[in-house]
Amino acid sequence: MKSPLHTLTIKKVHEGLLNKEFSALELTQACFEHIRKTDPEIKAFLSLREEAASREAERVDLALAKEEEIATLAGIPLAVKDNMNFEGEITTAASKILETHRASYNATVISKLKTEQAVFLGKTNMDDSAMGSSTENSAFQVTKNPHDLTRVPGGSSGGSAAAVASHMAIGGLGSDTGGSIRQPAAFCGVVGLKPTYGTVSRSGLIAMASSLDQIGPITKTAEDAALLFNAIRGKDPLDATSTNPSNEEKYEAELLNPSFDRIKKMRVGLPQEYFIDGLASEVKKGVEEAIQKIKKLGLEVQEISLPHTKYAVPCYYLIVPAEVSSNLARYDGIRWQGTKERVEANTLKERYFQTRGEGFGPEPKRRIILGTFVLSSGYYDAYYDKAQRVRALIKQDFENAFEKVDVILTPVTPTSPFKIGEKVDDPLAMYLEDIFTLPLNLAGLPGLSLPVRNQACEPLSTDLPVGFQLIGKPFHEPDILGLGRLYEETT
Ligand code: GLN
Repeated sequence: MKSPLHTLTIKKVHEGLLNKEFSALELTQACFEHIRKTDPEIKAFLSLREEAASREAERVDLALAKEEEIATLAGIPLAVKDNMNFEGEITTAASKILETHRASYNATVISKLKTEQAVFLGKTNMDDSAMGSSTENSAFQVTKNPHDLTRVPGGSSGGSAAAVASHMAIGGLGSDTGGSIRQPAAFCGVVGLKPTYGTVSRSGLIAMASSLDQIGPITKTAEDAALLFNAIRGKDPLDATSTNPSNEEKYEAELLNPSFDRIKKMRVGLPQEYFIDGLASEVKKGVEEAIQKIKKLGLEVQEISLPHTKYAVPCYYLIVPAEVSSNLARYDGIRWQGTKERVEANTLKERYFQTRGEGFGPEPKRRIILGTFVLSSGYYDAYYDKAQRVRALIKQDFENAFEKVDVILTPVTPTSPFKIGEKVDDPLAMYLEDIFTLPLNLAGLPGLSLPVRNQACEPLSTDLPVGFQLIGKPFHEPDILGLGRLYEETT
């Protein structure tokens, strides 16, 4: 029996469109039909754009009918995290303070995908302003894990991960400041890539912590992640931190057609600090399974050390609040109106207090307060400056390790998906969710979250997924995606 259209991968859709097995419109309609059945329970989407998406699909069909060449992403129905500006569409970052914000321009990633003629299904749910690890911090709704509706999908890009895992979208975009692509990908049994800092433009992404934020793909396979990543990456005049890899041509060739012979010769490092006692037994078992499979593929595996790992969580939770407090200062009720009704206030200060008091959820508030404190005179040196020095040590740890190995393999999360409500009142427990993912953001490195057993390509399983993480050298996405593809194709 043929697979239903909405369960296909990007690769398979592209082939199917070229071979005229189905039309882009049929595929888009199949996705919306499935969304109508599935999303009332999962609650992955904050907004849908069926009319506009159908028109986008029809344009691809027209191009195909005229025998025009189409891009790989043409006609691919995508789910976009709601912190990326999409011209004319409400873009909230799942925050009450942006409830009525209609984007006046496209994020660069959206412009690039529009040029490729991708189809945009709608915007997905997330933690308020991308702060959180469960999508429970959304001001609007709680997204459920498609593998078990009583559990969280992870966060903050939980909506995109749940949409891809439950086959409502063929692929999706997330953003990752400390793990927000990789952790929900692991919790939902799909693939998530956090690219090297600077490879994807941040223009039009609602900023959380600008020295760490990166946009990346959430997909059903590593091959799809490479295809979607390739479409969104590249230097952008609108983001001064964006850049191209120095060996652009070779980079792209390896990204799209990895040489498995080269990949099999890579040395894999297992950092002892990531295989700790607190690791849940099912995660330990899953990651062990992945390591055994990788050894069988012929790669050499050795233990390494990243000695400053234990300082990563405190370091992150000083730097991030500091950047958050300055990035979120613009939402003041004057330049950004925030909630539906403009607040009634007698003075400017009163307006600021009321708008920000009503508009921000508890987690952004917590971080604004902490961030303002660590940046304040007298405390800057003790906290912010010290955290920046620790950040340099963490980066150095990775540089040292990459003298011995080519990629590093770790768990993505210390636990498997937890119950809705279980950690929501315990910020510290929630912060520990990111212990294995946020060091990469501090160091600017690329990380790939891969399911130990690929469940996204199956009809939805009820087993809870476990993921593992592959960390690459800066601008070595082809290494981790190549190993990801080898893993998927041979296991
Ligand atoms: N969970 C982490 C945090 O709350 C990561 C968030 C993210 O990557 N956007 O900061």
